[in-house]
Amino acid sequence: MILFLKMFPSNLEKLIELFTRFPGIGPRQATRFVFSLLKEDESILEELGNSIKNLKKEVTACQVCFRSMAKAEGNVCSICSDKKRDASAVMVVEKESDMVNMEKTGSFRGLYHILGGVILPLDPNSSRGLHIKELFERVKAKAVNEGGVEVILATNPTTEGDTTALYIERVLEPLKSSYKNLKISRLGRGLSLGSELEYADESTLKNAFLNRK
Ligand SMILES: [Zn+2]
Repeated sequence: MILFLKMFPSNLEKLIELFTRFPGIGPRQATRFVFSLLKEDESILEELGNSIKNLKKEVTACQVCFRSMAKAEGNVCSICSDKKRDASAVMVVEKESDMVNMEKTGSFRGLYHILGGVILPLDPNSSRGLHIKELFERVKAKAVNEGGVEVILATNPTTEGDTTALYIERVLEPLKSSYKNLKISRLGRGLSLGSELEYADESTLKNAFLNRK
């Protein structure tokens, strides 16, 4: 383990080590978190501790789009059950924060499908655990029961994002041959190669959506 950790009391070390489990957090940042927690009021720490403790008990995933939602809300999230939204358009994103960013642009009024990750080009097992089978079933049901459906592949313009989009296109291909009312598009220009939706500004994201092809 990291050498400099041995400088702190063992329970501090333990907490630092736990924080390093988060994406993008190294020991230096984790240490800063822990010392900033030490300065907080006891009530804040209690609130934080309880929120973490109850996270999985209170939060679940929408059974349709896999967005996280409060268990108290039921099985289907507020976006999926919003009758004012266009149910014929499904935007496929890698993760929930991409969906949140797209929502901020206000330009898309359809529904979402959260994959829960990406396919790594060199790891054939990496498609496991992604909600691709559920996407297939969802799109199929729409093509059969509803007038038409557009699937907008909004994965990131990275190698992994492109691999994932191509994989999904292949998976949906048989549906596309059978159902002429199924259209598959991808976010258009505006997003530069290698950039990520999570960090794109609203107007760039809006343009990428409007210029989908
Ligand atoms: Zn949903």
